[in-house]
Amino acid sequence: MISIRNPFTAEVAVIGGGPAGLVSAIALAAAGADTLLIAPPAEPDHRTTALLAGSVTALETLGAWEACRPHAAPLEKIRIVDDTRRLLRAPEVSFEAAEIGLAAFGHNIENRHLIAALETRAVELNLSRIASPALAVTSDAAGVTIKHAGGEARVRLAIGADGRRSLCRAVAGIAMQRRTYPQTALTLNLAHARSHDGISTEFHTEGGPFTLVPLPGLRSSLVCVLDPAHAAELLAMNDSALSAEIERRAHSLLGRMSAEPGRGVFPLAVETAEAFARGRIALVGEAAHVVPPIGAQGLNLGLRDGATIAEIVADARRQHLDVGAPEVLARYDTQRRADATSRTIAVDLLNRSLLTDFFPAQGVRGLSLYLVDRIGPLRRAVMREGVAPIASQPRLMRGEMV
Ligand SMILES: Cc1cc2nc3c(=O)[nH]c(=O)nc-3n(C[C@H](O)[C@H](O)[C@H](O)COP(=O)(O)OP(=O)(O)OC[C@H]3O[C@@H](n4cnc5c(N)ncnc54)[C@H](O)[C@@H]3O)c2cc1C
Repeated sequence: MISIRNPFTAEVAVIGGGPAGLVSAIALAAAGADTLLIAPPAEPDHRTTALLAGSVTALETLGAWEACRPHAAPLEKIRIVDDTRRLLRAPEVSFEAAEIGLAAFGHNIENRHLIAALETRAVELNLSRIASPALAVTSDAAGVTIKHAGGEARVRLAIGADGRRSLCRAVAGIAMQRRTYPQTALTLNLAHARSHDGISTEFHTEGGPFTLVPLPGLRSSLVCVLDPAHAAELLAMNDSALSAEIERRAHSLLGRMSAEPGRGVFPLAVETAEAFARGRIALVGEAAHVVPPIGAQGLNLGLRDGATIAEIVADARRQHLDVGAPEVLARYDTQRRADATSRTIAVDLLNRSLLTDFFPAQGVRGLSLYLVDRIGPLRRAVMREGVAPIASQPRLMRGEMV
């Protein structure tokens, strides 16, 4: 009798163990796919993520939210304050989650807690993991081969969740469209004297948004977008001088502030892959799109990528299709491109309207915010679209298993 050896180690491999990769791997495993995670242990990450309601629902559905909950602060209200000194200033606008029947727009959590919760869930699900990086990836008509320190894995579909300098993207021959901004985001977490009351406050300045987002207790995370020279000045300050400067920029809204260790600096750029999948490789998270940290879009898009690929793989398996087949990947490409492009354009327009000295553009921004403030149905439509885009709600984001 002739024995035919199965050449595949697993059906799908997820390469990269950041939040987008972990969610993708957990969702694929939940979809019944034989999944291998190829990911070295996560590096320290002091960033926080405002997870919008759909992302929280997806994490609940995947059984990862309970471990996140104690570390996450609800975002009940968002305030936008025009802090420019321009002649045409926008009115202050605030949005309350209760207006669209939600307890919170989402929750803010430190990435280290989110990653720890996802890693715990992956272990609970017995997800196979190779805890070292992919050294080389090659794709052919029948599958993808991934070399790692311990040997080789062969799969039908590889998910590139390997971040903004993605090896998987390079191997698939997918180019990135990239635009840089003359701005840098300085990030840190801080303690403060007064309660944030679940309100995220965004001061719009000529240099970019200065955003305080609640963390549990008397703590918030800060994303301060400004020109690189000012960012360098702030970075050079010691903790007490920096704390006083942030308090000044926040108009003492939360009282005395105290910056915690772990400052991050991120030059602002927008990057979009010209395709989301090719040659048995699908890209998720920052491997596919980098969005400036304005309006909490980046990882929320990344989690929708993971939820979508899991859903498409689940459907393909039900139809006994090859999960890496071109028609399966074409469906993923179409579904994700529209969502990522529209979010990127929205963030870009908002950011440009702040930077511009062009008077009519300032007027349009002011008028838009005025209309959103005054017209109830428009307000609610903007809020709903911000939390859960109508055109892209994978099943997990609706609380349904893939
Ligand atoms: C200042 C700032 C604030 C932000 N705030 C928000 C927010 O409020 N809300 C929001 O939705 N988004 C936010 N974002 C965006 C969000 O942080 C990113 O979208 C998210 O972290 C990207 O996750 P990822 O898993 O795609 O990539 P990463 O976190 O970069 O993970 C990639 C992983 O791949 C691994 N890797 C790389 N190469 C290999 C290899 N060859 N083999 C195996 N593994 C490999 C790396 O080790 C890493 O663990 C913010 C971003 C910034 C910069």
